[in-house]
Amino acid sequence: MSRIKVHDKEFELYIPQDQIERAIHKVADDINRDFAGKNPLFLVVLNGAFMFAAELFKNIEIECEISFVKLSSYSGTSSTSVVRELIGLDHSIHDRNIVMVEDIIDTGLTMKFTIEKMLKLEAKEVKIATMLFKPNAFQFDYAIDYIGLEIPNDFIIGYGLDYLEHARNLPDIYKIVS
Ligand code: 5GP
Repeated sequence: MSRIKVHDKEFELYIPQDQIERAIHKVADDINRDFAGKNPLFLVVLNGAFMFAAELFKNIEIECEISFVKLSSYSGTSSTSVVRELIGLDHSIHDRNIVMVEDIIDTGLTMKFTIEKMLKLEAKEVKIATMLFKPNAFQFDYAIDYIGLEIPNDFIIGYGLDYLEHARNLPDIYKIVS
């Protein structure tokens, strides 16, 4: 299936599952190396990161804790400047090595908000692992520690990412046909 329609828009196959998963395995290797013995707390940002997280954690071999939070700044096909609250945080952050697990970093606003929130809660350190990164859209200068794949500024779906709540289940990534 190289072309699909979701709601009113056409998408074409962009990154196949095996390429995505090779990139995720590389992220897991880097985290295994950097966090051995540190018992990090991974915070998966729902909903979009669920599929990335599942593949990532099958390959994380170090002692760790995993939890899930929700936070969104996005609706439809363009980023908005509204960052909502962080919900579902049920672990103490104080003095912990935190790794945020995110599906995609676009403008970077969502993660900036989250990093600040973690530092306010007195995390020892906050690192970021993202499956996808759009360097040309990024508007900040903080470090993004673990990046699966860099992509151009196209709107994409699949592998957890939605268009109006559809297409999260697709095992490959598709990009919008403009
Ligand atoms: P940022 O705050 O970095 O601009 O946006 C981050 C959030 O916007 C991501 O967690 C994701 O939910 C959403 N987002 C950004 N780019 C895309 C995209 O190309 N496709 C989809 N489906 N969501 C995106």
